[in-house]
Amino acid sequence: MRNPGVFIGGEWLDSPNSIENINPSDTQDIVGTFQLATEQQMRDAVGSARAAAAGWASTTTQARSDILSRAAQEMLARKDSLAELVCREAGKTRAEGVGEVVRAAQVLNFFAGEAVRYGGENIPSVRPNISVQVSREALGVVTVITPWNFPIAIAAWKIGPALAFGNTVVFKPSEYTPAIACELANIFSRSGLPAGVLNVVVGDGVTAGETLLENVDAVSFTGSVGTGHKIAQKTVAGMIRVQLEMGGKNPLLVLNDADLPTAVECAVNGAFFGAGQRCTASSRIIVAEGIHDRFVDALNERMSKLTVGPALNSGVDIGPVINQTQLDKCRGYIEVGRREGAELLRGGGQLQGETPGYFLDPALFVGGVNSMRINQEEIFGPVACVIKVADYEEGLNVANDTPFGLSAGICTQSISVANHFRNNIKSGLAMVNLPTAGLDYHVPFGGRKASSYGPREQGRYAVDFYTITKTSYVSY
Ligand code: NAD
Repeated sequence: MRNPGVFIGGEWLDSPNSIENINPSDTQDIVGTFQLATEQQMRDAVGSARAAAAGWASTTTQARSDILSRAAQEMLARKDSLAELVCREAGKTRAEGVGEVVRAAQVLNFFAGEAVRYGGENIPSVRPNISVQVSREALGVVTVITPWNFPIAIAAWKIGPALAFGNTVVFKPSEYTPAIACELANIFSRSGLPAGVLNVVVGDGVTAGETLLENVDAVSFTGSVGTGHKIAQKTVAGMIRVQLEMGGKNPLLVLNDADLPTAVECAVNGAFFGAGQRCTASSRIIVAEGIHDRFVDALNERMSKLTVGPALNSGVDIGPVINQTQLDKCRGYIEVGRREGAELLRGGGQLQGETPGYFLDPALFVGGVNSMRINQEEIFGPVACVIKVADYEEGLNVANDTPFGLSAGICTQSISVANHFRNNIKSGLAMVNLPTAGLDYHVPFGGRKASSYGPREQGRYAVDFYTITKTSYVSY
């Protein structure tokens, strides 16, 4: 690949600016040097997608489906090398990297099927001798803006449906994970995607905010709440369709009747795997007082067996956080938690790996209350706090007492309590005896309150965002 970073109209272009992509497990490992799109190049990418839009929208659904399938096949065939790239630039363990690449392929295969399955409706008119047809049309040009924490899966679950339903795309990946994004562009090209249908612009967020939120028909964004709000202001003012998936402060509720090993695994997996850098991570572990002490002891014991280190080393459970800023942010919150009066039971210090990287010892607070900043603000790292509650009712109230509403979990053996929780938790995802993170690809994904804005992503529901309906009346 020649000078990756700026892919417009089917060609890799040079730019006066570039960035080095650093491996967070080993800051001496430069994953690559990537061109940074200029403001003009970002505008050109929109122009390129616009020029390709009519042609792509009129391509047969079979052709679109075939291209998506071929891209998925290549991903599966190369899953180990693609995963290694993801792991090097995003600090994931090998298992997490392979899992993410396979997930991206599954998503593209799913939308390869949807491309030939979606359709409209024929509905009887309320008037005589008139037929009514509701059809779905492509929107045109979609801007896709993604974060670094799932650099290929999130890209796939936005670009897949955008292409399947006949839209062209300008894809702005996170500047921290440009390598796999550029690979994706090449995979789609080799799969037969016409030039201009997918354009990739590695670049900073500010320039993207100036250029990629106008003259497009929709914007699909995943990232932080702050960025989401900025994007909302511009897109809503410009009357552009927008979908925002943002942060979380996800609760895991552990009740007295929970199966203890299950609850501990849910907590460890949900709070610390992926170095806690998942929007669905459990950062508030709300525990009923009857099981509290046993649960904390067992969780502490389980955490003592976690191995933190260079993500690609065998036996490592938890890799680094993504960069120095994120490490400083996590450590800052650990200080905030201490000052607020929570007890740091374990972890929280920077660890020296065998290579220089951003390793943080997973931190567990106990004795916290929900109003503390560590329980209200998204930390996005391996930091969690146990909050003791009297019973389920108090636990549910605490779980809902947050600006966010992405995922929420409960550990209990009572079907009726689990059902009550599913019906009353104010979140987009509800998990029973499962970690708050970990999803299927064929069902809708998204949250409530500050976590999400706009229609759901993924599964059959994606068609609602990526198409617009037309209602035709025909007299006969
Ligand atoms: P971020 O908001 O800093 O960046 C996300 C993307 O937005 C990047 O590509 C960035 O360059 C771009 N961006 C930044 N400023 C912009 C602007 N003004 N205009 C347009 N684009 C701009 O987020 P991050 O640090 O990359 O990711 C972590 C965040 O993502 C966390 O808050 C996490 O919860 C969230 N996240 C949410 C989900 C979800 O589905 N709800 C999934 C993964 C991550």
